[in-house]
Parts: sequence; C-alpha cells; structure tokens
Amino acid sequence: TAKDAGGNQTAVYDASYSLELEKRYDIERELRRALTEGGLQLYLQPQVDRQQRLFGAEVLVRWQHHERGMISPADFIPVAEQTDLIVDLGKWIMQHAFEALAQLPEPLVLAINISPRQFRKYDFVSCVERLLADSGVDPHRLIFEVTENLLVEDVNDVVRKMLALQKLGIQFSIDDFGTGYSSLSYLRKLPLQEIKIDKSFVQAVDDDEQRAIVDSIFAIARHLNLRLVAEGVETQAQLDYLVKADPAVVLQGFYIAKPMPIDAFLARYFGAEKPLQ
Ligand code: C2E
Ligand code: MG
Ligand code: MG
Ligand code: MG
Repeated sequence: TAKDAGGNQTAVYDASYSLELEKRYDIERELRRALTEGGLQLYLQPQVDRQQRLFGAEVLVRWQHHERGMISPADFIPVAEQTDLIVDLGKWIMQHAFEALAQLPEPLVLAINISPRQFRKYDFVSCVERLLADSGVDPHRLIFEVTENLLVEDVNDVVRKMLALQKLGIQFSIDDFGTGYSSLSYLRKLPLQEIKIDKSFVQAVDDDEQRAIVDSIFAIARHLNLRLVAEGVETQAQLDYLVKADPAVVLQGFYIAKPMPIDAFLARYFGAEKPLQ
C-alpha cells in the first residue's frame, strides 16, 4: 500500500491504491444493492458416493451483474469479507439455502460455506437459530463448511459456537483442507464430521510423488473417523484413485457435475422442478 511504499514511488502507489479502493467500493455498493434488488443466485453442485448416488450438494453463490456479466464468488466474497457486508450476504445465502433444502427429499444434505467474519460475529448462533425456526428445515441435514483460517484466532470462541451449533444438529466440515495455516492438533479439539480435501490435492493424484499427501489426508480422516469429501474431481482416473483410497469417499467435481441452478438440480435428479414431499 501507499503507506508502506517509501521514497519517490509513493505517487504511483497512491494512484493504483485508490483505483483498487474505488473498485472495491464499487463492488461493495453494487453487491449491497444486489442483496435487495436481485442479481444473486444460489447454485448447487452435486456430491455423490462411488456409485453416483446423491449424498447432497454444496451451495455456491453466483452474482449475475447487469453490466459485467457473471462475477465469480472468488472475486466478490473476499471484498464482502472485508466489511460487515459478508454478514448480510451470509444471511441471505443461509435463508435461500434453507429454502432450497426444504425442496430436497431426505436424507440429502446441503453444505454451506461460512466465511470467518460471518462466523465470528457475536450473534451468529442466534441468527442461525432464527433462520432455522423460520424455515423449519432439519438442522441435521446442514453442513457448515469452515476453513482452517477461522482457527488461527480466538479458537475458544470458535469451538464454543461450533458446539452450540452442533447441539442443534448442524455438522461441520473443514474446507480446502491442507491449504491453511493451522496445526493438525486442532483437528482433535473440534466438533467435526467431515474434511474436504482441497482440489489442488485431488488433482495431484495424477502425479506419483504428490500422491503421498493425498494418502496422508485419507489416513488422518480415517484415524479421526471423519467423512472425507473430495472436491475438484475432474477425471475418471482421479475418481478411481479416491475411491480406492476410501470406498466411503464423497465425490464432488466437474467430472460428476458442474454447479447448476437449483431448478436444474431438481430437474436432473428428480425429474421435476419441485419434487413432491
Ligand atoms: P470452495 O468452497 O472451495 O468451493 C469449491 C469451488 O471449486 C467452487 O468454485 C466450485 O465451482 C469449484 N469446483 C468444483 N468442482 C470443480 C472441478 O472439478 N474443478 C475445478 N477447477 N473447480 C471446481 P466457486 O463456485 O467459484 O467458489 C469459489 C469459492 O468462493 C468457494 O470455494 C468459496 O470459498 C467461495 N464461495 C462460494 N460460494 C460461497 C458462499 O455461498 N459463501 C461463502 N462464504 N463463500 C462462498
Ligand atoms: Mg466449500
Ligand atoms: Mg473447497
Ligand atoms: Mg476453495
């Protein structure tokens, strides 16, 4: 940033810094508008077992911008995460995800990404409770995906909230497992049901040497008795390797299906826009 940059480069840094700020501010303002006026949509990406039986789906938010087209969550979630906008966005996502879950037959589950700032909010647990009561969905069919980065700060508070939510029935998964900064020892302290091996490792099974990492992650999951979900499965060879490593692995990736609108998901798996309950 400009503050860090010394000497006569300051002016240049200033310009690009404020440009970046401006762009961020645009995204923030327009995202806030999209929350009330529309433009956001939830997609579902199927998660299946080795026989392609549906286990559930991950909820992935999409933003169809009126001028810029589709904006990736990888671009706007980090912006929202820098302010409390992520709290309102997260609420919107939960509310609509719970509505989607109400349309899915049992025992299918939905996995929802929870960002650290959203989770750390003092009233996160009561907010979830309220949304659950409003929607009437069974919390046992919800998986909250959190990342290792949630655990670098104030672990006691995080664990306390996880336990409160787990008591309601909500399951927890560590997303992008193996890419964060936390130590392995935290794994035993947390009320977890699942780890999601990051797609970079899944894709590494194509490489003989890198398979060792994947094998170790499977071993950890086995020892801790956690379900293992593999994301980013793109080839039959990857699928074969994962299933061989753990026949109970849950598979997610373009090779199975890309994320799709909720109606398309219902049509594909239930042959109707809304299955009869
Ligand atoms: P993530 O939670 O790790 O989600 C998995 C990402 O991998 C998704 O990207 C998904 O579309 C992509 N993916 C799935 N299968 C494959 C595959 O076979 N190959 C490749 N190359 N990619 C695959 P997406 O939807 O762009 O989301 C990116 C990230 O944005 C997510 O990573 C998550 O961190 C964040 N995100 C998305 N939706 C939400 C949300 O509703 N709330 C929050 N807090 N974050 C979200
Ligand atoms: Mg995820
Ligand atoms: Mg992930
Ligand atoms: Mg990721």
